[in-house]
Amino acid sequence: MRERMIVKRGKLNLWERLYLPAVLGGFKVTLRHFFKKKVTLQYPEEKWTVPPGYRGAPYLVKDQEGNTKCVACQLCEFVCPPKAIKITPPGSDAVPADRPNAEKMPREFEIDMLRCIFCGFCQEVCPEEAIFLLKDYSLTGQTRREMIYNKEKLLALGGIHAGQQKWKHKLEEAKSQDVFPVKS
Ligand code: SF4
Ligand code: SF4
Repeated sequence: MRERMIVKRGKLNLWERLYLPAVLGGFKVTLRHFFKKKVTLQYPEEKWTVPPGYRGAPYLVKDQEGNTKCVACQLCEFVCPPKAIKITPPGSDAVPADRPNAEKMPREFEIDMLRCIFCGFCQEVCPEEAIFLLKDYSLTGQTRREMIYNKEKLLALGGIHAGQQKWKHKLEEAKSQDVFPVKS
């Protein structure tokens, strides 16, 4: 049989029974914060400055010449834990490339922002440095469909990324070695 434990409630002394000291203590805290620098932001007019290293929403980026970097390898789609990425590879209905020597371009590339957990696996795994978690934290939409970002929207939001141009170097390499016919 379990033993019952009785916790005795201590008696309030006269000072505590007055309640006034506790109320004054509360006012003291309010006054202390009243004259301090305000931390409330008037959002959306004022935007929060995200700290360095902040990982926001994943967007597709273009290289400094405005060409799509993604080669539809589907690695990001494969590793994405909540299956938020859906890539439609070019298949037989080849998509016209917007850069020379492009082997493969995604016909469609969708990210369901309602599923995305902003883990950054897609950025880590991408061999082309084509997808980055940028500093966007304000993702809104009125319908579920609106929250599925398509290729055009992802590229527009991602913008230009002045990273390495792997395929440009590969093209130059192939030309100099004359290893296979290349289009320029
Ligand atoms: S950040 Fe994570 S969850 Fe979001 S699309 Fe990339 S891999 Fe998927
Ligand atoms: S974003 Fe990167 S990993 Fe994903 S399909 Fe394109 S090239 Fe491959």
